[in-house]
Amino acid sequence: MDAKTLQTPIEYLKGVGPNRADLLKTELHIHSFQNLLEFFPFRYIDKSRFYKISELQDNSAEVQIIGKITGVRTLPMKQGKRVVANFQDDTGSIELVWFRGHKWILENVNTNAPYVIFGKLNNFNGSFSMPHPEIEELEKAKTKSNVKMYPVYPSTEKLSKRGISNRMISTLMFGLLEQSGNFSETLPSSIIADLKLISKTEAMINVHFPQSSELLAKAQFRLKFEEFFYIQLQLLRKNAVHKSKIKGFRFKQVGEYFNAFYNTVLPFELTGAQKRVLKEIRKDLGSNAQMNRLLQGDVGSGKTIVALMSMLIAIDNGFQACLMAPTEILASQHYEGISELCEPIGVQVEILTGSTKKKDRKVLHERLQNGELHILIGTHALIEDTVKFKNIGLAVIDEQHRFGVAQRAKLWKKNTLPPHVLVMTATPIPRTLAMSLYGDLDISVIDELPPGRKPIKTVHRFDSNRLKVFKFIKDEVHKGRQVYIVYPLIEESANFDYKDLMDGYASIEREFPKPKYQISIVHGKMKPQDKAYEMERFVKGKTQIMVATTVIEVGVNVPNASLMIIESAERFGLSQLHQLRGRVGRGAEQSYCVLITGKKLSADGKTRMETLTGTNDGFEIAEVDLKLRGPGNLMGTQQSGVLELKIADLVKDNQILKIARSYAHHVIKADPNFKLEEHHMINVAFRALFNDKTIWNYIS
Ligand code: ADP
Ligand code: MG
Repeated sequence: MDAKTLQTPIEYLKGVGPNRADLLKTELHIHSFQNLLEFFPFRYIDKSRFYKISELQDNSAEVQIIGKITGVRTLPMKQGKRVVANFQDDTGSIELVWFRGHKWILENVNTNAPYVIFGKLNNFNGSFSMPHPEIEELEKAKTKSNVKMYPVYPSTEKLSKRGISNRMISTLMFGLLEQSGNFSETLPSSIIADLKLISKTEAMINVHFPQSSELLAKAQFRLKFEEFFYIQLQLLRKNAVHKSKIKGFRFKQVGEYFNAFYNTVLPFELTGAQKRVLKEIRKDLGSNAQMNRLLQGDVGSGKTIVALMSMLIAIDNGFQACLMAPTEILASQHYEGISELCEPIGVQVEILTGSTKKKDRKVLHERLQNGELHILIGTHALIEDTVKFKNIGLAVIDEQHRFGVAQRAKLWKKNTLPPHVLVMTATPIPRTLAMSLYGDLDISVIDELPPGRKPIKTVHRFDSNRLKVFKFIKDEVHKGRQVYIVYPLIEESANFDYKDLMDGYASIEREFPKPKYQISIVHGKMKPQDKAYEMERFVKGKTQIMVATTVIEVGVNVPNASLMIIESAERFGLSQLHQLRGRVGRGAEQSYCVLITGKKLSADGKTRMETLTGTNDGFEIAEVDLKLRGPGNLMGTQQSGVLELKIADLVKDNQILKIARSYAHHVIKADPNFKLEEHHMINVAFRALFNDKTIWNYIS
C-alpha cells in the first residue's frame, strides 16, 4: 500500500459505515486507513504457550492449560448459585468457576475428554481458580487456525457500548491488512541490514497479528525504532538549519572584566562541571551563530556564577547583558548577589521590575541606552518594548518554564541580531526527555555540587506527629538556624489553602511566641513590597521561621536555613517537592527536610514520599516523576503535543531512542537534505510525516 492509499478515509473500509466511521473518528481519532493501521494493540493474549498446573504462580495471569474436568457441582451463594468444576492435569488441579451460564456447562461438559482451557487466574488462599474460562475440547482446538497471539486494542466506554468491540477492531484490522498487500519500505536498506530489522510489511502484520512472540518483539522494535528515528531526524535537521541560518554576535575575546573577576573576586574554586559548562558557553559565544543553550543543574549546583561569568564575556566584548527571573523576589536576590560581586570590578548593574518607580525607571532607561549600564536584572518587565538597550548581546533566563514563546520573541528584537540566549533551569528534565524534546537546543549540565555540601536528610511524618516536628524546629532554632514551613497553594482550591496557611500560621505563633521567636509570612496575596520586606527580614536573620506558600519555591538563597518543613506534602508533585527541599542544604550545616502528610496516601503519594526520602539526585527524581505522571504532565511540556507517541515509550524504550538518535545523526551528517538515492524513502516518509505540522517549534 502506498502513501496515497494510506490516506483513504476510514469510511471506505469494508465493514465501516458512516456511523462506525463517526465513532472511530471521535473516540479514537481514526480518520484514515493509516490511522487505523497505526492504532496499535496495547497488549496481547498469548495462547502460544501451555502451562502445567504445578507451574502456576501469578495471581491474575492469563494462562492456557490442557487437562480433564472431573466432577462438576453446584454450590449455593448468598444470591443465586455458582457452578464449580475440578480441572486437573498430571501435576495438580484447579477449580473452574461459573457464576452464570450454568445450564450449558452442566449439560455439555464431557468428563472423559481432554480440554484446553484459557483464562485469568485467581489465587484464593493459596489455591488457584479460574472464573469463566474459555473452554474447548482438545481435539477440536487442534483443528483451529495457528494464530497464537491475539491483539487487545485500547477502547473507550462509549465504543464498547455502541458495539465496537475488540473483536470488531481486530476484524477491521485483519481485513485492511489483507487488502494492503506490501507496504512501501520507510527505512534505508543499510539500516535494516545493520540492525537486522524486519521489513515494514512484516512489522505491520506482526504487530497486529503476531505469528510468534519473537516476531512480535521484532515488529515492535522495528516500529519503535522507526518512530524515534523520524522524530530525531526532524529535531537534528532543525538544529542544523538553526545553526546555519541564525547569525549571532561573535564575542572574540575574554577580556579584563572576566579576568579581574576570576582572579580577584571569585570567592571559591569553580567545580569541574562549572568549568566544563563555561567552556561550552564560551565556544558558542565565540562562533558567529546565535547561542541557544539550556543550562540544567540541580538546585544549589551554582548556575548563577556561570551565568554571571558568561555575562562578563559579553561585557568584555562591548555588549550589554540581562538576566530575567520569574519573580520579583528572585530578581532582587540575583540583583543583590550579582551587584555585590560586580562592585569591585566596576561593572554597572541595575534592577528593573514592575515596582520600579517611574523616576528611577527614567534614569535607568537613559543609562541603558547610552551604554553606561552593563547588566540589567529584572522580571519580565525588562522585555517590555519601552526598555531599549544600546547593544544587548546576551540574555540569561532563569527558570525557563515560566517564560513563553512570545516573550522570547520580544527579546530577539532588541538588537540588530538576536542576542545569545542562556536558559537556566533547576527542574532537571530527564535525559530521556531532554533528548527528544530539546534536540534543537544545546544542553549543558552541571552535574556536580560544590564541595562540602552535606546531603539533606529527608524524613516523612504523618500529621499526627506534628508536635514532635515542632520540637525539632525548636532544637534547630536554638542552634541558631532558620526554618521554612511551606503550605500548598493550588489555584483551584485557593480559598481553602489560604485558610490552611493562616490556621497553620496561628498555631505556629502559639507554639513559638514572640519575642523569643520571630516569624515571617509570605504568600501570593500580599503586596510585593510587603513580601519583599518579610523576605528581607528572613534573609537578614531577623526572623527564624518563614511560613510561606510556594512563592519561595525557586532560587531563594538563605544559607543559614537548615530545616524545610512541607505541610500536606502529598499535594505537591515530585519535582516541586525537590525544588522546595533545595532551599535548605546551602550552607555548611547538616540540613533536614520533613514531609508531613495525612495518614491516607495514594500509591503514587507513597512512591513520591519514598523517592524523596531515598535520594537527593534531581535527575533520578525527575525520572520517577516522568514514570508517575507521564511526560505530558511534566512542567513545560504540556503545550507541546509532541509526546503522543504511537508505539514507543520514552521511558521504557530509552535504549531504542539512543540507537535511533545515533542513526539519525549519521544520516543528517552525511545527507542533511536526503538527496542521496539510498535516502529517497526517508525523503518521502519525512515529507508525509512533517509536511504541514511543524511540531516542537515552541522552544526557540
Ligand atoms: P543554583 O544552581 O540553584 O542557582 P546558586 O547559583 O544559587 O545555585 O548557588 C548556590 C550556592 O552555592 C551559592 O551560595 C553560591 O555562591 C555557591 N556556589 C556556587 N558555586 C560554588 C563553588 N564552585 N564552590 C562553592 N560554592 C559555590
Ligand atoms: Mg538559581
